[in-house]
Amino acid sequence: RRPHYPDHTMSDAPRYRFAPSPTGFFHVGGARTALYNWALALRTGGTFVLRIEDTDAERNRPEWTEGIIEALAWIGIHRDDPHFEGPYFQSEYAAQHVEAAQRLVDRGFAYYCDMTADEIDARNKADGTQGYQGWSRDRGLGPGPGRALRFKVPAGTTTVRDRVRGDVEFDNSLIEDFVLLRGNGSPMFLLANVVDDISMGITHVLRAEEHLPNTPKQQMMWEALGHEPPVWAHLPLLVNDQRKKISKRRDKVALEQYRAEGYLPEAMVNYLMTLGWAPHGEEIQPWSQMEADFRLEDVNHSPAFFDLKKLAAFNGEYIRAMSPHQFLEACRPWLLAESAPYPVDRFDEHTFLAMAPVIQPRCSTLADAPGLVDFLFLPDPVLD
Ligand code: GLU
Repeated sequence: RRPHYPDHTMSDAPRYRFAPSPTGFFHVGGARTALYNWALALRTGGTFVLRIEDTDAERNRPEWTEGIIEALAWIGIHRDDPHFEGPYFQSEYAAQHVEAAQRLVDRGFAYYCDMTADEIDARNKADGTQGYQGWSRDRGLGPGPGRALRFKVPAGTTTVRDRVRGDVEFDNSLIEDFVLLRGNGSPMFLLANVVDDISMGITHVLRAEEHLPNTPKQQMMWEALGHEPPVWAHLPLLVNDQRKKISKRRDKVALEQYRAEGYLPEAMVNYLMTLGWAPHGEEIQPWSQMEADFRLEDVNHSPAFFDLKKLAAFNGEYIRAMSPHQFLEACRPWLLAESAPYPVDRFDEHTFLAMAPVIQPRCSTLADAPGLVDFLFLPDPVLD
C-alpha cells in the first residue's frame, strides 16, 4: 500500500501542523504548541494537520495515537472540526522520503558515504577535527549496503527567519554533512519531517524551541528540493521554578495527569495560552477571545515559567465561575469515586447543590470537592 499525501492545492489558506512523536503521554508543552497552531488555523480559515511521527518502530502503538487524539479533544481540538485534517502517519510515507532523497542525489545535493562511526572517529583523531568533514564528497560512491546518504551542506550562512525570534543566523561551516538515509536505506527523521511538510503543503511550522538547531538543515533541504521554506516559529521553552526545562523526570508534564487531578480543560487551555503570550486585557478569558487576538508576532522568546500555583489559581477561578449544576457535573467522577471519604450511596445531589456556592471558592481542583463535603454524607458526623 502506498498512501498519497493530501491534495492541498485547491486553496491558498494557510496550513499549520502539529507533529508529535508518540511517547505514551501528552506533554503540556505539546499541548501549548497544538493550541497556538489551532488558534491560528481557526482565525485564518486555515487547516490544522495532525501528523503522527511514528518512524521509531517502538513508537508505533495504536493506543498512543488514540491518547494523542483524546488529549487534543480534551483541550478543544476535535478531529471532526472542518479545520482539522488527519491523522497522517509518517511511517506510511517511507517510500516518498526515499524518493525525495534520490531527487537530492540527482540534483547534486547529496552523496553516499561508506565510513563507519569508528572510521570517522579515527579520522577525527588523526586530523584533530570534530564531526564528519565531508570526506566522501568527491569519491563518487553509488548506493549500497552500509552506505549512508549525506546532505552536502553548502558554504556560507543560513538565515532562518523566525516569527518569534527574528532572524537567526547559522554558520554553515559548523554544520556537518548530515545523514539523510542510513546505511540500511531507512530515512532519517529530519528528512522525513521536511518531505512530509513539503508534501502536505505546510505553510507554517510552529514547534518547540528545541528544534531550532535543526532548522538550518531543514531549510537547506526545503530549498534543495525546490521549495520556499515555510514560516518558522520556535516557541519558548517551558521551565520550572528552578529555571530548568520542565521534564518528565523532574516535573509533572503529562496533560493526562492534570486532567485526572481535576483541572478543568478551559482553565488548562487558558493557562497554556499564556505561556509565552500575553492575552490582551484580563489574563483569564474565553477561548474565543484568545483565538481572535493571538498573533505569532506577540509571542515572547524568553523561557516561560510553568507555574503550578498560577495554574491552580486559574483553575480555582474557572471553578468559581461555574453554576452549581455545572460544578456538580464536573465533580461527579470524584464525588462518586471509591476513594471518596464517605460511603458513596449516602451522597445526595440536592444537599451538594445547596452547598456548592460555599464549596466552590475553596476548591482549586475538582478533586478537592469530596473532602470539603464529607461531613454531610458521613453516617455519624463527628463534631469536634
Ligand atoms: N516529532 C517532533 C517532536 O515531537 C516534532 C518535530 C516538528 O514539529 O517539526 O518533537
